Amino acid sequence: MLLVEPREIKLTTRSEIAVRRTIPHAKLRRVGAWVFLDHFGPTPQVDGMTVAAHPHTGLQTVTWLFEGQVHHRDSVGSSQLIRPGQLNLMTAGTGVAHSEKARVAAEVSNLHAVQLWVALPNSASNQPPSFEHLNELPQFESPNLTGTVFIGELAGAASPAKVFSPLVAAQLDLTGIASIDLRPDWEYAILPVAGGVSAFSADGETLEAAATELVYLPMGKDRLTLEPAGDQGDPSAKTATLLLIGGEPFDEEIIMWWNFIERTPEAIAAKREQWNARETHPVAGFENFEDEIGGWIPAPELPNVTLRPRGRS
Ligand code: MN
Repeated sequence: MLLVEPREIKLTTRSEIAVRRTIPHAKLRRVGAWVFLDHFGPTPQVDGMTVAAHPHTGLQTVTWLFEGQVHHRDSVGSSQLIRPGQLNLMTAGTGVAHSEKARVAAEVSNLHAVQLWVALPNSASNQPPSFEHLNELPQFESPNLTGTVFIGELAGAASPAKVFSPLVAAQLDLTGIASIDLRPDWEYAILPVAGGVSAFSADGETLEAAATELVYLPMGKDRLTLEPAGDQGDPSAKTATLLLIGGEPFDEEIIMWWNFIERTPEAIAAKREQWNARETHPVAGFENFEDEIGGWIPAPELPNVTLRPRGRS
């Protein structure tokens, strides 16, 4: 097992948004086809996220909230409020534009969320963009554990969300020591988002992770036991909330630059050009859409070095 401490990243958007990024990381490029993980908040919703229109290609964005509300709009025509326990899944394919804005409402105090990207395999990357919202996700119960599965299948609960490689993602709410079975032919990661945990794998490894620190589990683990660190003032209050992700190792070589995933530097440069020329030469997927934020985020300059496709390591 490997502990990955988050990097603090300021997003290049219209508001100063700080997120904690654990994938990609110098220690960890991907987990299955999960190639990106940002953890945001909890922060007062009034200071929350405002991300103007920006593009994606070659990936799926997965948005999952623990607290708060976010309004998603995109060039497919979606206008969707998301709440905790719901899934927003946007498949960028050949190209899509979207914006996100935290909704300030009397009944909402904090915003606390993760956003992940899934690399589309080559066989699925050349599809038109689409968007899926799921209001209710399947849950499972086991001793001291409630799991909500939003991608793939875990402990008999299966999400209907459409993905293109073998993957899983779930929220785990712990009220004490709990265990889950893993597939030894997959790799996994857990990210405590509220409360720290001790992680014990069946082969005798132990690792302690504070909230916001990610634990990577390489292939070969068939069972994971988690113990909430508990509140020091009240050791009986042993609760924690975690994100769990996993998947079959994804071996394809990709180039991930800015908001795009492509296979060649030429394809990255072409998508960048198309996005930045959207006002004069709009192409499918990168059109304008109705948006209360207004404006759009231009792609930055390409680096001077040649972008190279990279695999798992
Ligand atoms: Mn985005």
